Amino acid sequence: MSAAEHDPNCIFCKIVAKQIPSRLVYEDAQVYAFHDINPWAPVHFLLIPKAHIPSLAQVTPAHGDLMGHVMALIPRLALQEGCNPYPDGGYRVVTNTGTEGGQEVRHLHFHIMGGPRPWLRG
Ligand code: 5GP
Ligand code: ZN
Repeated sequence: MSAAEHDPNCIFCKIVAKQIPSRLVYEDAQVYAFHDINPWAPVHFLLIPKAHIPSLAQVTPAHGDLMGHVMALIPRLALQEGCNPYPDGGYRVVTNTGTEGGQEVRHLHFHIMGGPRPWLRG
């Protein structure tokens, strides 16, 4: 990860750098996935690019390969983490974007939530 892709003030960049501990779900050169500290559902993890992209609002066609990688990983990791298979199972994928979108952490992340209902939220 080059310095330009890392924001030293960003909590998720610190998680990627393992300066803050997290419960790992998956990691490769491009992405990092870890359990949400405050889960809404029986399965609730976050999938993030390692590079510091603040939100979906900054995604451009230059991120096409990365976004394709993320989208193809979601179904695989969801089943790995215990979501039940589609169509009776499934999962919810949420990307809060900006203040009015409910985004609290300004590093692009995909919430993946699943498992038997009822859920705490969502
Ligand atoms: P947002 O509201 O930005 O879409 O979601 C941020 C998510 O990050 C929240 O669900 C919150 O529980 C999670 N979160 C915030 N800080 C930490 C942390 O230090 N570790 C982990 N594992 N999750 C975090
Ligand atoms: Zn970051």
